[in-house]
Amino acid sequence: MSAKKHIAIVGGGLGGLAAAIALRQRDFDVEVYEQAAELGAFGAGINLSANAVKVFDALGLKGRLHEVSFEPQGHAWRNWTSGVAARLLPLDESVSRYGSNYYIMHRGDLHRLLCEALPASIIHLNKRCVAVESQDQSASVTFADGTTIQADAVIGADGIHSAVRRHVFGGAGARYAGTMCWRSLLSVADLPADIHDRCVNHWTGVGHNRFVISYFVRQGKYINILAVMRQPEWHSESWSVPSTREEMLESFSDVGPNLARLLGHAKDVYKWGQFTGEPAAQWTKGRVTLLGDAAHAMLATWGQGACMSFEDSYILARWLARYRDDLPAGLLRYEAIRKPRATRIQAMSRLEVRFKKQSSIWDKLYREWIYLSRFGSTTPGIYRWIYGYDPIKQWEQAA
Ligand SMILES: Cc1cc2nc3c(=O)[nH]c(=O)nc-3n(C[C@H](O)[C@H](O)[C@H](O)COP(=O)(O)OP(=O)(O)OC[C@H]3O[C@@H](n4cnc5c(N)ncnc54)[C@H](O)[C@@H]3O)c2cc1C
Repeated sequence: MSAKKHIAIVGGGLGGLAAAIALRQRDFDVEVYEQAAELGAFGAGINLSANAVKVFDALGLKGRLHEVSFEPQGHAWRNWTSGVAARLLPLDESVSRYGSNYYIMHRGDLHRLLCEALPASIIHLNKRCVAVESQDQSASVTFADGTTIQADAVIGADGIHSAVRRHVFGGAGARYAGTMCWRSLLSVADLPADIHDRCVNHWTGVGHNRFVISYFVRQGKYINILAVMRQPEWHSESWSVPSTREEMLESFSDVGPNLARLLGHAKDVYKWGQFTGEPAAQWTKGRVTLLGDAAHAMLATWGQGACMSFEDSYILARWLARYRDDLPAGLLRYEAIRKPRATRIQAMSRLEVRFKKQSSIWDKLYREWIYLSRFGSTTPGIYRWIYGYDPIKQWEQAA
């Protein structure tokens, strides 16, 4: 029987913390190294579909997740002029259709929930990774403060601009996706009662260079708004460039009365540019692997970036536990299972940008044909494939 193995995780974001929880439950010693000076409640809304919620269930955290979440009635794709929903995907039957609940929440609440499931002593702040190396018997991580640590394996969960990926695998890194978005969080206490229904609303107009997504977070106490627009250039990597309601409204002056009323209530407005990554040719080298956005950064069009990082976390922990005495082999098994699914959803997330507009019947048929020819399924089948996936069963079948 070998001694307890020591895993270093670079990045204390959603995927890194989930991986830390999953690995500790499989009896690994885990340390998390995060570049930020504090673990802040930044970000906007996050949708977690049934495939990811199954992981929270397996980690014993579904109850806590339920407490901070809102369960939407469905996805509604609305014409932003009339407000009428052209298409609906019911989500209140998510348990019977896809095997678990569909939750929406504030990213800060989700991050806090994950932090609370870990001892504070294993999360090391102000640790910006600048170099990673895999050796025969261990792997090392060097930080900007000049310190170096050794571990039996290193997980690069350092997000879309991953230093681990750049350092170990090279490549160009993430690039600006050509779209920027405004976000605002509206307190429901200040709003008319009928301003929003229980759906995740996708508002689109003619032309595919702008759309708006709105939904409840914080158990229905707030509405999260994302207003997305094409813009050729973007220079900041910050999530929180201050903006104004007026600046946002100027770009959405042609929306109908329902959406105009909602946007008109925005107070604090921020903007940021959306970045996207190329699929990584390889995730694993020796004792180092990638997880979450570091491996497969994707646009939020299918709402799956965080969901994929949770699926990754669970399956990674199971394979490492199975190959406790040969961790490089465990990392390769993890990559072999995770890469096809994550890469496919990454490609879909990029394709979907083309279809974010109020479409004619011919546009809709064309979209279905493109999905059928490229991914072998039309929209309902794709939702079943994404949401209905069960990482726990998948691991059991593969093991
Ligand atoms: C507008 C928007 C909406 C989204 N909506 C959804 C959604 O509805 N559903 C969904 O599933 N996903 C959604 N996503 C995607 C989701 O936020 C990401 O996929 C998810 O956060 C990825 O988790 P991660 O752990 O890989 O990276 P992150 O959560 O970004 O964490 C990376 C961490 O690594 C740290 N770090 C970076 N570099 C270093 C370094 N050199 N050294 C040490 N630490 C480092 C960072 O500070 C950060 O804490 C959305 C994203 C955006 C932008």
